[in-house]
Amino acid sequence: MYLTQLLHQALQTDPDRVFTIDGERTRTVAESAGRIARLAGALAGLGVVSGDRVAMLSLNSDRYVEYLFGVSWADAVITPINNRWSDTEIAYALAESETCVLLVDGAFSTRVDGIRERYRGLDHIVYCGDDICPETMIGYEQLIIESGPAEDARRGGQDLLGLFYTGGTTGSPKGVMLSHNSVLVNALGCFTTGDWLTQHGRMLHVAPMFHLADLFLLISGALAGHSHVTLPGFTPGGVAAAIEQHRITDVLLVPSMLQQIVDQPDIAGFDLSSVRHMLYGTSPISESLLERTRNLFPRAALAQAYGMTELAPVATILRPADHEDPSLRRSAGRPAPHAEVRIVDEDDAEVPRGVVGEIVARGDHVMLGYWQRPEDTATALRGGWMHTGDAGYMDQRGYVFVVDRIKDMIVSGGENVYSAEVENVLGRHPAVASCAVIAVPDERWGERVHAVVVRRPGQQVTADELEKFCREHIAAYKVPRSVDFVAALPLSGAGKILKRELRKAYWSESSRQVG
Ligand code: ATP
Ligand code: MG
Repeated sequence: MYLTQLLHQALQTDPDRVFTIDGERTRTVAESAGRIARLAGALAGLGVVSGDRVAMLSLNSDRYVEYLFGVSWADAVITPINNRWSDTEIAYALAESETCVLLVDGAFSTRVDGIRERYRGLDHIVYCGDDICPETMIGYEQLIIESGPAEDARRGGQDLLGLFYTGGTTGSPKGVMLSHNSVLVNALGCFTTGDWLTQHGRMLHVAPMFHLADLFLLISGALAGHSHVTLPGFTPGGVAAAIEQHRITDVLLVPSMLQQIVDQPDIAGFDLSSVRHMLYGTSPISESLLERTRNLFPRAALAQAYGMTELAPVATILRPADHEDPSLRRSAGRPAPHAEVRIVDEDDAEVPRGVVGEIVARGDHVMLGYWQRPEDTATALRGGWMHTGDAGYMDQRGYVFVVDRIKDMIVSGGENVYSAEVENVLGRHPAVASCAVIAVPDERWGERVHAVVVRRPGQQVTADELEKFCREHIAAYKVPRSVDFVAALPLSGAGKILKRELRKAYWSESSRQVG
């Protein structure tokens, strides 16, 4: 299979369906497909050949959708760039991937000089913003108008579809090579799981499109005949207004976004009743946030996905019906049809059900490898299984419970403490808006449990009160021994809490051994 097949299929069966909505701009499947074919023609005109890397540095937009399909149509390699990176990090990724063409929108055009200074290998920069094209760049719209349509390369299968950088939550981001098959097997597998996506729905893309979580939904939505509404950036009010205005049926929100939405003071004033499927994932969610989400979207079925970029990206799905079972509140669901999932010990032997080990997965969705990192690839894929670096267990019915990232676990006096479990308890305290639990050095216990807490506006609570609250719910050795109160937690571009940043205040770079 190849990615653009989804477009050809839609073109034959449903050409007049609205495909993208970006602000005031609406395009049908037929219009978008025509533009995508001309974008591919334009890329060929710029000298892009099969296998070349073409990068995109942009906020979410309808042109992001065209870019993904257009680059693939030209048989070049999609290389989405994390738009939260610094110029140096962007230049590093462009150099590492030897990217020849960069598409950049208005939000990032002033960064181009800084990036070019650090990486001299760009042949062309295409400006895909809405303002007048800067002189040093080529205008996207002009290219589309002037270029003839290319014939779709129709290359796929095990060929490289894209280089997708990991979130950079635990270290520097790694370029993950995914084939057409990986991404499509994942999308089809998830799709056949059923009941977590509206047929012919209207999907809101507010999670960053450079991250695979959103791309995966774009593809699944294409299978379900969706229209795609793009929002350039996240604000809680902006999401609520977009849901109301466009009668959004399906939306993926990551926990840090959901937290801000449920905390938004005027949220009750918006009509959110159109949402039928609320998808969440990418990082752990606390029970209290899940409950508040459910109350805010009473007509929406909730579905959770667990996975990682290396798995294109889904391993397990917690389906809407599973959310009715209280014993599954902390579960990430069962393996998706395309994924074989196991829990293994340090010697890669499968552990009994209920025992915590490392989550590993295999199947046709697994990455081809990390770009130019053969050793990391061999380690991650040892024995033919993708090692997730996540700790978890599987119950008798095959439900997976992710307990922590192995790197985030706290080993205190020989006992494992899962940070996510402690965060879940803290999150239930009415004064806690968000929190992160980390390991800090301790002379007696090796590591000690430390909490970093953001208080809800206008709420007061002391460290002693929080410790007392935790003691009522979890064993003494898991209770935070110290608490810092901060205004906000550091987040990655994908909206995940950067615990390595928080740990920095306590550990020197290499002093902590994990895993
Ligand atoms: P890096 O690998 O660069 O440190 P990252 O792991 O955050 O970054 P991604 O591939 O985007 O990069 O994220 C995958 C990770 O996100 C998983 O390994 C897991 O720790 C976490 N994750 C994803 N979905 C869930 C979920 N539903 N519940 C808990 N954790 C999740
Ligand atoms: Mg990772």
